[in-house]
Order: sequence, then structure tokens, then C-alpha cells
Amino acid sequence: MEIEQKIQELRKELQEHNYKYYVLDKPEISDYEFDMKLRELQELEEKHPEFQDENSPTRRVGGAVTKNFETVVHDHRMYSLSNSYSKEELEDWETRIRKIVEGKVEYVCELKYDGASISLTYENGELVRAVTRGDGFQGDDVTNNVRTIRSVPLKLKGDYPDRFDIRGEIILPYEGFAKMNAERVDLGEEPYANPRNTASGSLKLQDSAEVARRPLECLLYSLAGVTNIPTQFEGLEKAREWGFKVPPESELKSSINEVLDYINYWDQHRHDLPYETDGVVVKVNSVQQQEELGHTAKSPRWAMAYKFKAEQESTKLEKITYQVGRTGAITPVANLEPVQLAGTTVKRASLHNADQIEKLDVREGDIVFVEKGGEIIPKIVGVDFTKRDPDSEPTQYLTNCPECGTELVRNEGEALHYCPNTNGCPPQITGRIQHYISRKAMDIEGLGGETVALLVNAGLINNYADLYTLKKEDILPLERMAEKSAENLINGIEKSKEIPFERVLFALGIRYVGETVAKKLAKHFKSIEALMAASEEELINLDEIGERIAWSVKDFFSNEENRENVQRLKEYGVQMEISAEKLANQTDILSGNTFVISGVFEKVSRNELKKLIEDNGGKVASSISSKTNYLVAGDNMGPSKLAKAEKLGTTIISEDDFLKMLE
Ligand code: AMP
Ligand code: ZN
Repeated sequence: MEIEQKIQELRKELQEHNYKYYVLDKPEISDYEFDMKLRELQELEEKHPEFQDENSPTRRVGGAVTKNFETVVHDHRMYSLSNSYSKEELEDWETRIRKIVEGKVEYVCELKYDGASISLTYENGELVRAVTRGDGFQGDDVTNNVRTIRSVPLKLKGDYPDRFDIRGEIILPYEGFAKMNAERVDLGEEPYANPRNTASGSLKLQDSAEVARRPLECLLYSLAGVTNIPTQFEGLEKAREWGFKVPPESELKSSINEVLDYINYWDQHRHDLPYETDGVVVKVNSVQQQEELGHTAKSPRWAMAYKFKAEQESTKLEKITYQVGRTGAITPVANLEPVQLAGTTVKRASLHNADQIEKLDVREGDIVFVEKGGEIIPKIVGVDFTKRDPDSEPTQYLTNCPECGTELVRNEGEALHYCPNTNGCPPQITGRIQHYISRKAMDIEGLGGETVALLVNAGLINNYADLYTLKKEDILPLERMAEKSAENLINGIEKSKEIPFERVLFALGIRYVGETVAKKLAKHFKSIEALMAASEEELINLDEIGERIAWSVKDFFSNEENRENVQRLKEYGVQMEISAEKLANQTDILSGNTFVISGVFEKVSRNELKKLIEDNGGKVASSISSKTNYLVAGDNMGPSKLAKAEKLGTTIISEDDFLKMLE
């Protein structure tokens, strides 16, 4: 009882801090404190799977994998919106309303959030389902993924109705989007085109842990199935009280003129918002009037979207320059004559790759059209051919690396060019070491990106293996390097030898091997030798490892210098295999417990599962009896086993629950 209470208290506390951080943007405790509490809860839940709860704050990190998204029929249809583009169209709309309803009409103005629509169902204050809009009648159940979005409350506060739906938009704010893209470019991958598509694509990812890593948000705008709230505006206020993120920009207006002022204001100021909006949605405030107005076949008559015009400017393209990333990927950049666009001065725009340049036929000296879409970096959408210099020549894409002069290569089917001089090209050398030490990789304390550049420039290091040969005396003469910081640096490097293999693998900077892929490879091959010895075919046969990754892994290890670096890292004591402890896991954590295994598992085979139980002091039985403590249930578990377990009150746990018990 005491433990259950402790678990409940921690959940409540974490839920409240989560709300303050993600919904109100007003954190009260540090990230560290939050993590500590979360970890405490995690440990308790692992020890006591009997108190598990789908809506526990620990579920935010994801982990559930959805292979097929189930189709769900919406309780309340999700309509589209009619669009308008001018003052006149809005006034016409008002005239139509006046013909149907009598008396005073008030309007709620809201921003039109540009993302993916979602319908959330809550029962007794708990999130039970999240469904995409689909065709408006039915959509896909994406609950596992939506649960990871921190601004979606898993449990509500206050006087919420027993059961209701709430609609909103899943969006990706600019900042998070830019960060995700920077990481992708770093990995040598194509950046995502815009936040909206990335947000809606995220909802359909199979691995919810990947969704959890994306900085998505959910902004809510309307209730469905609630009968006792008379106006849209009060609905928004109530939703806010229950813990939802309802943007504060929504306002109540008493005439179409006021509505137009709101629209003009936001047309000017929309770029100050942290996320993308493509218009304003105007809604009749009174629910009773809404009912009188009703719907057309596709959209409510009581609501109207007003779409902003995309902002575009023309300016001169002065020069195309090229940047070299850590993996050698080349990105072309348009350097523009500065122009004012959406409230900022634009000097550079992205040109993506050679195909894009060819498709648009952009040339230096052209007058080009620049648009600011979802991206922070504006893009070139076309050329003003009427203003082209008749002597201009088509753009010849760069042939040699701007940094080291090596001839660029482009692999078949790939959009980007690369500088293949991996170990001799300065930005690649520095970039790779910077990646190696970064937080998600080796997380070397006391060493930052700038210091890496200093060390490289001073000739002290030329690759990440060299880090481990650094001595305090070598680095003290460097600029701004005090005794203490030198010590910290050396200690930080020493400590990185404890970083587990999967992160080392990520740190090596193999193109296309991001965190998730590194984890998969580490788990499967268990050691660097085994990975190096794997054939391309063997790699491709792994779940989620495609030809591109397989080729890239082989390519990396076929390079003499890379192999040498790996060998050196190993000699210095960096983890090049899954730790023996983790492998053998000879503990007595499970002693005194008897397990029954049933069904098929995803992460380990039945035999491995058996071995894990026995290695950790537990017993495996073949049938359920009153002595069974846990039934580990996989897919397609036999119905008779399940019935028996239920009858005897045996604790049923999933594969994940079980693996967590071992951690
Ligand atoms: P459309 O997709 O053009 O038919 O526009 C309708 C969509 O706009 C809805 O499905 C919502 O996903 C989205 N939307 C964004 N913001 C709002 C808002 N404040 N109120 C209603 N719908 C919104
Ligand atoms: Zn180069």
C-alpha cells in the first residue's frame, strides 16, 4: 500500500511539473530534479509492475511499437473548414449568417495552426485514444505516439466531463524543427522540407520512442461531445483549466470589423510566433447559434478560415557557395542581396542540392523569388526569367571540395554530393571529433566544439582516437586553457571510456548510423569485431537496416584509417562491445520468483528470455499454477494460459516490463 501511494504521489508531482514546463512554459524545478524524480518513479514501477499505468509520466519516453495503425471511427465527425482570402469574402459570410440567426453574433478568432489534426478522447480524466483526422469519418489510432507528446495531458485536472473528445493540431515549432534538421544534415541525411509534413509524418512512425525524441506539441482548439458549455470561448477556457495547451492568442470579437483587425494584426506578426500559422480561424461563439447554422457536406457554416498570403520577395542571387558538413555532405547556399521578408532581413537561402538547382535553373546573377515557409532558412522558389542576363550560363555544380580540393562524388540515387576525403578534409576532421564528443555521443565533459577546433588547429589531434593521447602539458599552452580546465578535459576524456558500446558506435560518425541504428547494431552484433565482419547481406537482413546503411557501414570499415582508429580506441579502453555484465547478467534480482513464458516476443527469443530469467536467479515453469509469480506475455499468447492466469490472479507482464525488471 505504501509503495502504491508513493508511486501515485510521484506521478502526480511529475505530472504537475510536466504541465508547468510544457503547457505553461514556467518550469519550477530544474531538468535535473525532474529527471531524478522520473528515475525514482521508473525504478519503483519496474519493481512493481502490478501498479503499471498507461498514463504514467514514465510512458512519455515511448517504446511501444505500432506495426499497423488501427482504423477508428470518430464519435463526432471531424469537418474541414471553408476558406476565405479577402475582406469581402468574410463580409459575405457574415451576411449569410445574418440570414439564418437573429440577434447579436460574437466571433472567436483563433490562429490556424499548421500541422496535423488530431482528436483526443478522454474518459474519467484519462487519455484513452488519439486518432488522426483521416477522411473526417474515421482515422488512425496513433495513441502510443501521441502519448509521448509532452503537452498532451495524460491525466486532467479540475471539473472535466466524464467522457469527451477534444480537437487540436500536432505541430512542430520552428526551433525544434531546425534542431532536428541540423542533426540530419550532420548525419549526412536530407533535411526535412517543412514542419507540417514532419509533424504529420511523425504521427505515423512505428517506433514511439522516435516520436518521443521529436519536439512535437499539441495545440487544442475545440471540444466535441460536451453539452454544458454554451460558447466556444468558454470551451477554450475550460480546456485550459483541465490542463490542455490552448494558445493565449485566441480572442473574442463582437463584429466582423474587429475580426478583420485581428487578421491584419496577425498577418503582420505571425512570424513572431514560435510555430507556423497559415491563417486565422473565425468561429461563431454561441453553440446554440452554431447549431442553428449547421454544416454543409464538408464544413461547418459557423466557422471560416482566412488564409494569409505566402510572403514572397524578389532579390538578386549574388553567389552560390558550398558548405561541407561533418560527413562530407555538400550543401549549396544562395547568397542574396539582402531583402526584407516577413519582418527579417534575408541574406541566405537554401538551395538543397544539385537537382534543385537544375530544376529551378537558378544561376548566379539571377533575380530570384524567395519565400519564407515553415523553415527558418528561407527558400528560393523560382527565377524571374524576364530579368535574366542573356549571357548567363547554366550553373555548373561544384566539382571539387571547397575546403580540400578533392573531387566530389555522388552515389547513385542520392541527392547530395560528398567530399570523399574523409580523413584529410579539415571541416570533416573537426566535425567528426565534435560529433564524437557531443552530448548524445561520448558526452565528454570539459570539452566543447571550440576547444576541439583549437586542438585540431594546434596540430594536437587529427582524429578522435588522438583525444586519448592528450596530456595536460600539451593543452596548457592553448589559449584560455587554465590548469583546472585542462584537468577537467583530461578527466572527461578518461571518463568517456565508460560510455556503453551503442553510444560509441554512434559516436564513430558512420554516415546514416544515428542513435537508433547504432542501438540496433550494437544489440545485434554485440561487438565491433562482429559488426566489422558482417556482410552487407547480413546487415540488410536486420529490421530497419536498409541498403544505404549497410553500404555505409561496409564503406566505413573498408577504410584503413577508420579501422586503425577503432583499433586504437579499443586499446585505450573505449567500450567496443556490449559490457560483459550486461551480456551475462548473472544476478539474483529475480530470485524467489517463478515465471511462465507464453507467446512470441519482439526483442528476445523465447530461449533468450528463459536464459535471462535463469541467469538472474529466477525459475522458469512450463504451466501456470498458484506458485507462478509472473506470466511474461508475448504476441499470440494461448487463450487458455491467459484465462488461467486471470483466474489465479497471476501478474501478467509484457516483454518490456520484464526487461525493465533486469535493468
Ligand atoms: P483544412 O485542412 O484546410 O480543411 O482546414 C481544416 C483544418 O484546420 C482542421 O482540420 C484543423 O486541423 C486545422 N486547424 C488549425 N487551427 C485550427 C483552429 N484554431 N480551429 C479549427 N481548425 C484548425
Ligand atoms: Zn573536402
